[in-house]
Amino acid sequence: MAVDLHTHSTMSDGSLAPSQLMEHAAEMGLSALALTDHDTLAGIDEATLTAERVGVRLIPGVELSLEWQPGTLHVVVLFIDTESELAGRLEALRTGRDTRNLAILELLAEMGIEITPEELAQRAGDGAVGRPHIASLLVEKGHAESIGEAFEQFLAKGGPAYVDRARLDPETALHLSREAGGVAVLAHPHTLGLDRAAEIAETLEWLRSIGLIGIEAHYGGYEGFTRTAYVALAEKFDLVPSGGSDFHGDYKPDTLLGTGTSGIPVPDEVLQALEGARP
Ligand code: AMP
Ligand code: ZN
Ligand code: FE
Ligand code: FE
Repeated sequence: MAVDLHTHSTMSDGSLAPSQLMEHAAEMGLSALALTDHDTLAGIDEATLTAERVGVRLIPGVELSLEWQPGTLHVVVLFIDTESELAGRLEALRTGRDTRNLAILELLAEMGIEITPEELAQRAGDGAVGRPHIASLLVEKGHAESIGEAFEQFLAKGGPAYVDRARLDPETALHLSREAGGVAVLAHPHTLGLDRAAEIAETLEWLRSIGLIGIEAHYGGYEGFTRTAYVALAEKFDLVPSGGSDFHGDYKPDTLLGTGTSGIPVPDEVLQALEGARP
């Protein structure tokens, strides 16, 4: 059986509601799915209810973007206790998103592109509002051909409409993850922006020393060779290999649930290993 331990719903920047996501997981033959929306647990209750009905195990999770240079450091926290201190901190992170999003809209306005806060709120729906929602409005208004292109032209780090936002620092985030009964997994490790082996080694050692448990070796964008290399790296640094598609529905149309863009499933052994590493 296969699992998917990194997915997004309409409660952040995915296009399927939590219940639809669980139904899709059943269709795809997954035994378990982690819902890991950005900075919110708002979808967990709905997903849990549907999970029982469709016979797919739901792992409660969240994805956090942490303070980091030069690339991006995202951590997926699996098995998070929804009543924990970490859960309570998420609201402030969402407020930081809202402030950042308004600043992005102002920069776009200066470039002659008008997107109103109301349009953005309507596009985003209930949950955490993010750049993919702005990207989809840029496409709709004819300023970019695709969401990926909207990022490249405007929204990506270093782009003309990029604005940073409030984040947790890695020490705090990993400490709170552990206190929340969670298993912290380094998401899409290639985005750290490190290319020297010594830097990668130093970073993984440091992250592990402050509470990182796993690393996404089976990321949906990775081909078999890359996965093998990351599994070896996980072993070397005593981290548990995890994996997931980073499914966002229509916001990342080429990424399929379960297999991402690679066509390769995530073996369910990874879930057993992660479970064994719960605090
Ligand atoms: P936010 O959390 O609002 O800053 O937006 C981050 C999300 O935007 C990520 O989780 C991805 O889904 C998406 N994203 C980031 N960079 C890119 C990119 N270059 N192309 C497409 N999507 C991206
Ligand atoms: Zn996302
Ligand atoms: Fe991410
Ligand atoms: Fe993600």
